[in-house]
Amino acid sequence: MQDNLLEYSWVATGVVLALLAVTILWRVYLHYSHKKSYQPGQLIKAQYDALNSLVQQKPVANKLEDICHLIESQIDGALCSVMLKRDNSNSLRAAAGPSLPRPFVSALQDLEIADGVGACGTAAALGQSVIVRDMRLDERFEAFLELIDEHNLVACWSHPIFHAREERVIGTFAVYFRSPKLPTTLDLEFLVRTRDLVALVIEQQELALQREKVEQHHKSLFAYNPQPVFTMDSDGRFISINRAGCELLKLHEHELIGQHYELAVVEEDRERTKEHFEEAKRGNAQSYEIKVADKLGHIYDLDITNTPIIIDGEVTGVHGIARDRTEQRKNEAQLKVLESGIEASVNGVVISDANKPGFPVTYINPAFAKLSGYSFDEMVGRSCRILQGKDSDRKTVHEIRKALHERRQVKTVIKNYRKDGSTFWNELLISPVKNRAGQVTHFVGLQSDITERINKEETLEFNATHDTLTNLPNRKALEKHLASALEREESAVYVLFIDLDGFKPVNDSLGHYLGDQVLIETADRLKNVVLGPNLLCRFGGDEFVAVIENASNKEQVAAFCQEILSVFEQPFQIEGKSVSLSAAIGVASNLAAFNHPMELIQRADVAMYEAKKRGGNSWLWYESKLDERLSFHVALRTQIQEALQHEQFELFYQPIITAAGRIAGVEALIRWQHPERGYISPADFIPVAERTGQIVPISDWVLRQACRDLERLKPYGIGSMSVNFSPIQFYRDDFIEKVKSTLKRYEIQPGELTAEITENVLVHDTQRITELLEQLRELGLDVAIDDFGSGFASLRYLNSLPVNKLKIDRSFTENINENAQNAAITRGILKMVKDLRIQVVAEGVETEAEFAFLAEQGCDYMQGYLFCRPKPLDELLEWAERQQSLENEF
Ligand code: C2E
Ligand code: MG
Ligand code: MG
Repeated sequence: MQDNLLEYSWVATGVVLALLAVTILWRVYLHYSHKKSYQPGQLIKAQYDALNSLVQQKPVANKLEDICHLIESQIDGALCSVMLKRDNSNSLRAAAGPSLPRPFVSALQDLEIADGVGACGTAAALGQSVIVRDMRLDERFEAFLELIDEHNLVACWSHPIFHAREERVIGTFAVYFRSPKLPTTLDLEFLVRTRDLVALVIEQQELALQREKVEQHHKSLFAYNPQPVFTMDSDGRFISINRAGCELLKLHEHELIGQHYELAVVEEDRERTKEHFEEAKRGNAQSYEIKVADKLGHIYDLDITNTPIIIDGEVTGVHGIARDRTEQRKNEAQLKVLESGIEASVNGVVISDANKPGFPVTYINPAFAKLSGYSFDEMVGRSCRILQGKDSDRKTVHEIRKALHERRQVKTVIKNYRKDGSTFWNELLISPVKNRAGQVTHFVGLQSDITERINKEETLEFNATHDTLTNLPNRKALEKHLASALEREESAVYVLFIDLDGFKPVNDSLGHYLGDQVLIETADRLKNVVLGPNLLCRFGGDEFVAVIENASNKEQVAAFCQEILSVFEQPFQIEGKSVSLSAAIGVASNLAAFNHPMELIQRADVAMYEAKKRGGNSWLWYESKLDERLSFHVALRTQIQEALQHEQFELFYQPIITAAGRIAGVEALIRWQHPERGYISPADFIPVAERTGQIVPISDWVLRQACRDLERLKPYGIGSMSVNFSPIQFYRDDFIEKVKSTLKRYEIQPGELTAEITENVLVHDTQRITELLEQLRELGLDVAIDDFGSGFASLRYLNSLPVNKLKIDRSFTENINENAQNAAITRGILKMVKDLRIQVVAEGVETEAEFAFLAEQGCDYMQGYLFCRPKPLDELLEWAERQQSLENEF
């Protein structure tokens, strides 16, 4: 607006100057002119026309023509033309020539500016007036001869037109005559002044064009501005408002013009807006935020800039630009919520720049700072790589890097390092963040410390593959290890099945806690012998398995077994108690084409079992003939259980005879009539039952049944019953109590019951066994050592043990009459026990010769097939009856 006014004042000044110039021109001309032909009336009219033309809003061509007419009216025969320099071209075009022939003017539409090109081309080129009296004689018109001849033009006076302020030629002003002619000084003066008038007109035109342009610019800026733009008068009423402003307020321009801005501003912002408005009016530009409401009541957040409108040094109103920040504010509010959410999150959040090398961190939340030990300042700008260390899995690191470079999400778990060097398991979810254009600008990493969970999983994994007591690999790990060893087929694989001899009684007598200590120490001792690449594991209970892969031949394996046995040579010191143990080892190898881990283990187990049967403290190679026993024993475990439930057991009785041939008593021997397999020998199932612990309920049943049957034997003069006790019974806490209650229940008198125990009972923890035996004696039981001479016991014990009977093992009775060695041993035993008041029973007497020999040697009691095989009670009773009647006969 202001600019427009300035423009107008410029034009007005130009016009006033022009008037002045022409008036002076006219006076000067009049003063010097003596020519009658200059008509004052004509000149005044021409002058009026020219001035009128100048102040009018006419096209510039018309204005130039008016000036031409002014000249033509004053100089006789003059035909005037104005040529203007073309923009961006070194040529002139005819802008006016109202009296010249049209074809002539048309021919001058592209006249080159150059010295020698007619009068105008030369004048424009040199910047000097060119006066030609007769063009036909001037070589500069050679090219135009035809043209000037055609139009009968002869003289030409051309003057360069200079820009009013800049020293440059903008065109030419020329006068043509139809006869040769030279100008007078006055003519020249007049022409030069008029030429200046032309310059003024042209400049006026230029200014008008410029003004037009500026106005257009301003208009565009206002109208097409996407931001609301408006002007207000000094009272705050809208003078103008652009389309964006109307659209924002949902009102038409005519509804707004003349309205006070308060119409739109929400009430609570009005006071503040007023303060800013007044300040802008004082000449100080203002920027502030307000809320406005549109016609429908929707609220918008606007940033307002107010500037004063100053015209002629006076503030006439206020200009305003508004920026709609509603969306931005909403986003900002949302961002705030998000930000506080991230700040408060228990998970670590890291944001990094996706477009810088190493993806430097731009943000971490407090949870991450806590997790990693790095503060915000320490972390920002650095790569997350500082969280990695030597224990960070290379594969995972590679996986993360690959995903980052491919700009895709990655979820993984990696071991990271805190600032203090400690490690933690980091569960990571890294996601790319895209801008509106879809380009990845950042990565957001969610991190959680799952160390506890991983540790738990590791423990679970360890526990799943390890035995918790000894920390040795367990059965599962063994099978896995063995499977891969067998698969490799690199070398011979030997499996050593190691089972402790007599651990069960130890465990039962010492209690499980101390039993565990024994197993831990056993594991430790074995670990010292079974070294990598060989594997040692606990198979279960007191069973250990060693997998040997570095033995090149059987001899080495044998030596190895010997070494294992030797670790038991030293007694175990458990809580001040000394416990002696040994082991039985069974060995099987894949050389015998056992290629399934379990197959190999079972074969080694069979061999171990055989080694144990042979007395333990030894090792044995697996042989195929042992196989039959394997399936037999495996099945036996379950079948014993069934036998107990379905009362398949039965007691047979075998009499014990005095040297005089009388029945001294009977021994109860268990029999198992299996419904499908028929008779199963106690020699087969008793050891199995001892290993499984099933011997305890079996023994209980035997004792009860024997006591019950004793009632039926007594009428036949049989008042003594021998019952076999298993070592396992001795290690049960309620052992004595149970015996005691049975005795009570069946009213067993002292001397009526004999407990037969094997020597093995005495091997471990002699002290405790002695006490138990004493307790049995106190209950009125006799105690017999069964199978004497076959085991480890020695005669040394006999005087210190509460034992009053001894049964010489059948192996010494065999052929005693012929076998000198057996005879010597038996004689020795008999001699020794004589003074100890121990009764001796010789087992397995089968022949008269054996009987005779033993009787001669002073053996008081005998047992064997010679006298009677073990029989069911009824049969025995019959036998006893027969015996009685025989005796009576004699
Ligand atoms: P044992 O206590 O030494 O029993 C004697 C074994 O010798 C019996 O074998 C018997 O049948 C056998 N026998 C007796 N006279 C002769 C003979 O002249 N020649 C031969 N060759 N053998 C003879 P059986 O009944 O097979 O019992 C074997 C072992 O099983 C018993 O040896 C005993 O240790 C155990 N046993 C038997 N019944 C029970 C029981 O109820 N409880 C416990 N814990 N063990 C039992
Ligand atoms: Mg016996
Ligand atoms: Mg025996």
